[in-house]
Amino acid sequence: MTNISDQQSEITLRPTVAKINLSHLSHNLEIIKQQVNGSKIMAIVKANAYGHGLVPVAKHLIQQGVEQFGVAFLEEGITLRKAGIRVPILVLGGILNTQIQHFLDFDLEITVSSIDKLRQVEEVAAAKKKKAVIHLKIDTGMERLGVHSYSAGPFIEAAVLSKQCFVKGIYSHLACADDPNSPMTLEQMERFSEMLLHFQRLGVSTPLRHLANSGGVLHFTQTHLDMVRPGIILYGIYPDMASHRILDLKPVLSLCSRVVYFKVVQPGRPISYGATWQSDHMIRVVTVPIGYGDGYCRSLSNCGDVLIGGKRYPIVGRVCMDQFMVNLENGSAYNGDEVILIGIQNGEQITVEEMAEKAGTIPYEILTRFNNRIPRVYAQ
Ligand SMILES: *Cc1c(COP(=O)(O)O)cnc(C)c1O
Repeated sequence: MTNISDQQSEITLRPTVAKINLSHLSHNLEIIKQQVNGSKIMAIVKANAYGHGLVPVAKHLIQQGVEQFGVAFLEEGITLRKAGIRVPILVLGGILNTQIQHFLDFDLEITVSSIDKLRQVEEVAAAKKKKAVIHLKIDTGMERLGVHSYSAGPFIEAAVLSKQCFVKGIYSHLACADDPNSPMTLEQMERFSEMLLHFQRLGVSTPLRHLANSGGVLHFTQTHLDMVRPGIILYGIYPDMASHRILDLKPVLSLCSRVVYFKVVQPGRPISYGATWQSDHMIRVVTVPIGYGDGYCRSLSNCGDVLIGGKRYPIVGRVCMDQFMVNLENGSAYNGDEVILIGIQNGEQITVEEMAEKAGTIPYEILTRFNNRIPRVYAQ
């Protein structure tokens, strides 16, 4: 973890910070545990823990008892190992032959999504005299990775017979679980259950079965099985506008900046690139030092809001790479005043969900776009 004095100097160097509330993270984990009633939890920390900071988030989750992580890419797993994290880590993404040796070197669990890949893993494992820990990936309807459930028999048989591989898990991914009314999830569930009969046919025990993402955790108890793979709800955010708000989730990230400039703008004087916005009366305008170069959506130009002094004010003109302007009308603010881009100020709130709606995207993209120009500050 960043040491405290480094963090503090970063704060004074850069007035824009993402504050990560670790007690909210613990709270969300507890709520999810209650919801899944005994299923194990694979905490998904891909994409820099959804923008919250991979290593500090993973370390905190281990303190809270998390015993399995999921990441998207090999290098994310390696980063966790190099940070001293020893708990099992499954890499969810597809693999290339040249990567397999590194999975074995760093003791990372491999997603195997075809017989071909299984053979490649066996070959590298044999050469290294190591046993690979694998999860079989079955495609039940996402058409992204995995052997189609309707033709998984030979794949499963080859995997359970493999001497070089230990089949720890078998899983699939839900395409529509965000929406409680989509019939797709139950179809996928049925295909998954049917596919699992191969283990009975082969007379071997079924490995760890996992299917549910956040949407599955929220809306489809049947998908909870042996383990669930929550991502976005861990961070206190619902996956979709259609999702039922049934859990008491608390947003983990808030994004704050400070006013760096104040001025009065005359009527008819347009603001920012492209001169897309102007007022017909005199207004007070402040400048905020964050922009699309930090991952703040440019599509919030002329439609996003911020909080200053507990009041909501609109972004006017285009969001620039490093800054944007806010119309205070006749409100007041001073240089150095706190600006909330995501979070709560005096009871007024801006949520990631709201921002996503305005920016024409999903909460996932809002969170994962924030890059390393924005310092993360962790509070217990
Ligand atoms: C990203 C991902 C998840 C987590 O998804 P959320 O919707 O954030 O819960 C689970 N499983 C797989 C395979 C994923 O790629």
